[in-house]
Amino acid sequence: MEKFDVVILGSGLGGMECGFILAKNGYSVCVLEQNPQIGGCLQTFRRGGNTFDTGFHYIGGLGEGESLNRLFNYFGLMGLPWQKLDEDCFDEVILKGTSYKFASGHERFVETLAQEFPHQKSNLKQYSDFLRNVGDNLFHSFQTKDPSQLYDSPLFTRSAYDFLKETIDDPTLRNVLSGTALKMELNAEKLPLYIFAQINDSFIRSAWRIKGGGTQIIDSLAESIQKMGGSIRKKAKATRLIETDGKISAVEINGEEQITADYFISDIHPARTLELIKESKRIRNIYRKRIDNLPNTYGIFTANISLKENLIPYLNRNQYIYEKDNLWSCGQSQANRRTDRALVSYQMPETGTFAKNIDILTPMYWDEVKRWEGTEIMRRGKDYEQMKMQKAEECIHLASKHIEGLQDSIDKIYCSTPLTYADYTGTIQGSAYGIQKDRSQLMYTMLTPRTPIANLLLTGQNLNLHGILGVSVTSFFTCSEITGHQTLDFV
Ligand SMILES: Cc1cc2nc3c(=O)[nH]c(=O)nc-3n(C[C@H](O)[C@H](O)[C@H](O)COP(=O)(O)OP(=O)(O)OC[C@H]3O[C@@H](n4cnc5c(N)ncnc54)[C@H](O)[C@@H]3O)c2cc1C
Repeated sequence: MEKFDVVILGSGLGGMECGFILAKNGYSVCVLEQNPQIGGCLQTFRRGGNTFDTGFHYIGGLGEGESLNRLFNYFGLMGLPWQKLDEDCFDEVILKGTSYKFASGHERFVETLAQEFPHQKSNLKQYSDFLRNVGDNLFHSFQTKDPSQLYDSPLFTRSAYDFLKETIDDPTLRNVLSGTALKMELNAEKLPLYIFAQINDSFIRSAWRIKGGGTQIIDSLAESIQKMGGSIRKKAKATRLIETDGKISAVEINGEEQITADYFISDIHPARTLELIKESKRIRNIYRKRIDNLPNTYGIFTANISLKENLIPYLNRNQYIYEKDNLWSCGQSQANRRTDRALVSYQMPETGTFAKNIDILTPMYWDEVKRWEGTEIMRRGKDYEQMKMQKAEECIHLASKHIEGLQDSIDKIYCSTPLTYADYTGTIQGSAYGIQKDRSQLMYTMLTPRTPIANLLLTGQNLNLHGILGVSVTSFFTCSEITGHQTLDFV
């Protein structure tokens, strides 16, 4: 039977970064991936010569001295073809037809929005200072020996919505500031201030796309892991975790082979991880039920659109479009409602100044696709295809109001729904951002890497913070449970 120091279940960003950190610290590691392609949400696909991203469009904080820059330097990822989005407008929020610019850098961000909202200048400054302070303490926020301190901290227990209401008097500006937040679920009751502040701060500092697709992040990590002696196995689905004397002794792969290790890290959704442990002395039913019952954030519908040649100019920014001002209504299903919000993201062309493909994203809830649960990819039936096409048309209709000539420039459309994510990454109900963090239920919803089984650890977006930044931070916390806290010293 093969033996490693650490076996990692899942090759999403979280799994791969843990593999990198541990291999760099001299541990023998093996990463298992159920799919033929590694990367989870960071997979790309190619159609008709175009590269499409799935769960990656842009990241923040890659500038010199910024948080993700430090982490990506450690992972050897700064040499990838990163391209900064326009500094005077990296995100454009179009709220009920009016356009607002988000400029890079906190000072410029405040100055630019203050031109539209001069009476809110000092509030904007207060807002920006608060976010900046949260970003400066990225790691320290979680570094407390006593977890109850975390659960008592106002940064986590205060709702992002309340913070906005208390800081910004103008309701339109409140919506504008929330407008780039399709990258989190704007739930007025639940969303902890920490998540809102951390994510927004990193993008305001600087925003970046990658030329050629997000999978390069994963390919680079894979190459580094292998160079450091680690192994990565594709089409290797973890089908069982075997517990012996209260510890995980082995993982079963594809129902056949077993491999053993001293530690196991799961980058799979925690509820799915527990399903792999059939019998356990350590996992009580109450713990299983608790994890099973945790709600997850919404999923995302994406229309990946390839464009006819030389018609739509490439935009070096994102467009967030809202027809209504009910941005904080997330948590209520959109089923049977017309699509009224979308993010338009341009894939950076290899050459020239015209876009070859764009993605239009909008939230999609499980109840919109539940009736096709259990069907196979590509064989879900005509009604599923019709539903996707209708949703894509609604997205295009919305985007066309702000992208001249879009309707006539479309060559082909490829769609994905939460069902696609559920099938490809095993995330519960195709959730885009994993377990929904609830500021009033922090102890239950903000999981730590530890589980009741001492040598089984968790990582990935379901823990502290989702997105590339959150997953990267969490991978250090997970690994420090094995290597000791000096692993965190460099950050
Ligand atoms: C549509 C969309 C757009 C997004 N855009 C952005 C963005 O622009 N910027 C940003 O910062 N973040 C973005 N995100 C969020 C970001 O992609 C995720 O937070 C992050 O990639 C999650 O990584 P992960 O490692 O936690 O999980 P995942 O990527 O879900 O990886 C889990 C892996 O485990 C594998 N697996 C599951 N079960 C098994 C098993 N039994 N055995 C073996 N392997 C298994 C899966 O196949 C998968 O590869 C987006 C997400 C979505 C859905």
